[in-house]
Amino acid sequence: MAGLRRGGDPFHKQSSVEMNHKFLNGNVPGGPLADKWTQYRSTLPLVAPGNKLKIEIIVVGTGLAGASAAATLGELGYRVKCYTFHDSARRAHSIAAQGGINAAKNYRNDGDSVFRLFYDTIKGGDYRSREANVYRLAEVSTSIIDQAVAQGVPFAREYGGLLDNRSFGGVQVSRTFYARGQTGQQLLLGAYQALSRQVALGNVELHTRHEMVDLVLKDGKARGIIARNLLTGELERHGAHAVVLATGGYGNVFYLSTNAMNCNVTAAWRAVAKGALMANPCFTQIHPTCIPQMGEYQSKLTLMSESLRNDGRVWVPACEGDALAIREGRKTALDIGEDDRDYFLERRYPAFGNLVPRDVASRAAKMVCDEGKGIVPTGLGVFLDFSSAIVRYGKSRASILGISQPTPALITELGEKVIAEKYGNLFEMYEKISGEDPYRFPMKIYPAVHYTMGGLWVDYNLMTNIPGLFSVGEANFSDHGANRLGASALMQGLADGYFVLPYTIGTYLSEDIRTPNMDTTDPVFAEAEASVKDRIDRLFAIRGNHSPESFHRSLGKIIWEYCGMSRSEKGLKHAREEVRALRNAFLSDLYLPGTPSELNPELEKALRVADFIDLGEMMIVDALDRKESCGGHFREEYQTSDGEALRRDEEYAYVAAWEFRGHDQDPVLHKEMLQFDSVELKTRSYK
Ligand SMILES: Cc1cc2nc3c(=O)[nH]c(=O)nc-3n(C[C@H](O)[C@H](O)[C@H](O)COP(=O)(O)OP(=O)(O)OC[C@H]3O[C@@H](n4cnc5c(N)ncnc54)[C@H](O)[C@@H]3O)c2cc1C
Repeated sequence: MAGLRRGGDPFHKQSSVEMNHKFLNGNVPGGPLADKWTQYRSTLPLVAPGNKLKIEIIVVGTGLAGASAAATLGELGYRVKCYTFHDSARRAHSIAAQGGINAAKNYRNDGDSVFRLFYDTIKGGDYRSREANVYRLAEVSTSIIDQAVAQGVPFAREYGGLLDNRSFGGVQVSRTFYARGQTGQQLLLGAYQALSRQVALGNVELHTRHEMVDLVLKDGKARGIIARNLLTGELERHGAHAVVLATGGYGNVFYLSTNAMNCNVTAAWRAVAKGALMANPCFTQIHPTCIPQMGEYQSKLTLMSESLRNDGRVWVPACEGDALAIREGRKTALDIGEDDRDYFLERRYPAFGNLVPRDVASRAAKMVCDEGKGIVPTGLGVFLDFSSAIVRYGKSRASILGISQPTPALITELGEKVIAEKYGNLFEMYEKISGEDPYRFPMKIYPAVHYTMGGLWVDYNLMTNIPGLFSVGEANFSDHGANRLGASALMQGLADGYFVLPYTIGTYLSEDIRTPNMDTTDPVFAEAEASVKDRIDRLFAIRGNHSPESFHRSLGKIIWEYCGMSRSEKGLKHAREEVRALRNAFLSDLYLPGTPSELNPELEKALRVADFIDLGEMMIVDALDRKESCGGHFREEYQTSDGEALRRDEEYAYVAAWEFRGHDQDPVLHKEMLQFDSVELKTRSYK
């Protein structure tokens, strides 16, 4: 069958010209784009129900991707073991997702379709993702909504009863389903309830407060994990026929990000250390609408959902003098008249206005701040203003109520009510954090690290290059190219977990039905456990003077400064030296209190920071390699005369998948060449 692979070597040589590289095969099935998934799914080898009962699968992670995968695999009859370092599966970062989830339902009858969602996602990702995966994602998006509704997820509804939609950046249709500003929470509760049912039925064994600290391979295949019981410090061996990593993104490599504080790269990085490839690690997403950083010792940034750009207008004062006066507290936004404002997104990108994609909006905000027009004391902030929307909604509500000549005060009152209905909890959250009333004064926002498009390299089956090791959700690199469109991470996590992995993992497992359960007394488990113990002991032996947190903060500053919103060859080379120096400092000056065999959050952090340092260096190497600008990767040397990203398709239309070779050697680049049969590669324009 075309493209079907069962755990073989994913490398293949493509042509004699390219012999210097090992090329990766995405194992995309043949046939027309629109039929690939259906045909493939209908002809995949299956595991018979009786055999499923004998097969064990480890799922690490209980966010939307992990919970949906574990629940579905349990429902199918596999014996699933599921792990999370949190005290409850529900604490996964997914719970924080605010704005919504995309699906090509076309409820608005505004021209949406599976193809349009596919096209928007490929274009939004700046043509750096695999066509077949993205099409499949768009195709199954509609099933996700049906599944969630059946679970009782309380999506917002219109007066007629149909599910409501709103718009997110980079598209011209309304296809985002939402539950106020708590979409992730509601979806995760749905997935958690499905998971809990399987736990109750005995199909899923749930291990909370367990952190995967190593991957176990036997004969080159993923056969288990070493987990640290975070409450006792004990190292445990867990075996299975296959391992699924649903461990989320690595945005916290920047230290300050909108991710939950505990998000980290350790599970994925332990797999990388065992030979898994890390794809496009430099593709990180900076979200334009976050509450600006206010102090040096801040440890967290807060997202203001993209949904707010449906109604909020982004601006700065047109002249530097006004911006300075605002920064110094001599003026407020209300003192700046309409003619003295620069609605820079509407000016630069009239076709999409405030709803341009995140990478474009973030860079535009940075540009005006670089010009000295920032509106917070650090100079790094712009306004997000709802006053026009309040008036517009107020007039419309007055008209519905039959009030022919409403006073300005009544218009404001009615308009604010509409805004509160749509975004009430986000406004409340903003006021609590900033101390300012966003109904009266525009919000102050600035871009911040939010999502990582890079991740473990996986083929069409969501299997990494290590046979039996799969990765789903934000932990893999698969669908978003160089920039993710808003509301598509929840879509991908749930597509992977509910609708893709449960089929594709069967392809691999159908060849494993005669393999008995893993024996965790096997030497491969003992060796993996001993190497973790050794790693931990060496960290304790350092006995230096600095906390893991302080190294993490230093790492974040380097990565943000040189591998953040804009990057240059000179800066990246300097950053690599700095990261290496930081690694030396970490290994000679780390201080860990307590002992390994107890609850020890400092040890947890240290292990994670060590992996972040290695990842940080790989991100820099990847950013150096990619001599073009695309999506979230903006190389200063490659831009158009008006400051837009300059892609170089001839040379860089590939996925860069890196093989880690230890600290003393450069990682090795493997390329998956991207082929586009259904879309024409164009300069991305939102003008
Ligand atoms: C503030 C915010 C708002 C967002 N809003 C939206 C939105 O509106 N729409 C949208 O589409 N996307 C949104 N996103 C992105 C989206 O929330 C994430 O991409 C998505 O939730 C990731 O889900 P996941 O299941 O892949 O990972 P996560 O939800 O991060 O779950 C990871 C799981 O892995 C576990 N884990 C990790 N490492 C280990 C280990 N070593 N051992 C054991 N367990 C481990 C964790 O405990 C957790 O259970 C938002 C992101 C942020 C930061």
